[in-house]
Amino acid sequence: MVKVSTDFDGGAVSIISAEQADNIQLEINKDNKSCTRQWFYFAIESTSDPLQRIRLVNADKVSFSGAWQDYQAFASYDNQHWFRIDTQYLDGELMLTLETTAEKVYYAYFVPYPLTRHSALLQQVAAMPAAQLEVLGQTAQGRDITLIRLGSAAAGAKKIWLIARQQPGETMAQWLAEGVISQLASHFAAQRGDSVPTSFYIVANMNPDGTALGNHRTNANGINLNRHWATPDPLLCPEVYWVKQAMLQYGVDAFIDIHGDETLPYNFMQAETQHPFADQLKLALAELDSHFQTEYDYSNVAVGCGAGSCGTSCGQQKATSFVQQQFGVASILLEASFKPLQSAEQSRHWDHEAAKQLGANLANTLLAICSEID
Ligand SMILES: [Zn+2]
Repeated sequence: MVKVSTDFDGGAVSIISAEQADNIQLEINKDNKSCTRQWFYFAIESTSDPLQRIRLVNADKVSFSGAWQDYQAFASYDNQHWFRIDTQYLDGELMLTLETTAEKVYYAYFVPYPLTRHSALLQQVAAMPAAQLEVLGQTAQGRDITLIRLGSAAAGAKKIWLIARQQPGETMAQWLAEGVISQLASHFAAQRGDSVPTSFYIVANMNPDGTALGNHRTNANGINLNRHWATPDPLLCPEVYWVKQAMLQYGVDAFIDIHGDETLPYNFMQAETQHPFADQLKLALAELDSHFQTEYDYSNVAVGCGAGSCGTSCGQQKATSFVQQQFGVASILLEASFKPLQSAEQSRHWDHEAAKQLGANLANTLLAICSEID
């Protein structure tokens, strides 16, 4: 017996055939209302053959054509502990192979960050004395858009904004955000007074509807949030509308928008326009965390679009350009990889735990240099 299931938060794949565990054929889904196609997350139960071989037969139709080169998928036996597995891209198909040690195995494009974990994180934060939660509004499907405020309440405090996961398939963005939040929380809990007059405004999950639906880049209405910062429609993309309102209300002194990049085997930052604080942040973070580097970014490595890419929403405003134009401050895109990292011609391990650690190191770096924000 072979059973393929996706009936959980963020689950997404379609079944072509699943008679034998060593010859399962699946298709990567499109987002619910968009032509984007990239994210997969499913479970397979098999009582017969311990060898599971899964072919994602439309892998050549995804939005990012370079995504499968040197890529390794994730698997888990308990939906908690995840590891990379043997993954081959051949003749337009992505083949995942695992000699299993349990009957049920979960597979995913990157380690999922489900809404249950998001809720648990918000509950933890709510209990912290140095933190405040503010529900800014609701998504189309009625989920809260929640802003976390951490740090100094002083009127003159510098305001550093971080948002993550505008594109819900980029789950590493929220692992990173969790690392930032945990580290800031313990810093501010241990601290007496406002020796660092800085306040952090964090939206750890910009797209909870897309998270639940198993979308890769869009919300429940098929909107790519990071193309709608100029005039966000409160009904079509309330996520952007409410977060933008909060930015205008509270002000922004520095901004980081956390994403995942499908193609590049590097973690990097790219500022909207050159800014001394952004330069300083990059160098200091690279010093502290060997999973982060400053050599490669979009300015020197080309990224190609795939057969399933859709340009309908291109050309409209991204979050980093809105912040740069509105506030004239350091406005930074942080991209983390889906792939094992490349460094000095070697492959390096990269997963959700390393993403959390990078987040913690980012928090420490920001705390160390925040007095330099002008
Ligand atoms: Zn992104």
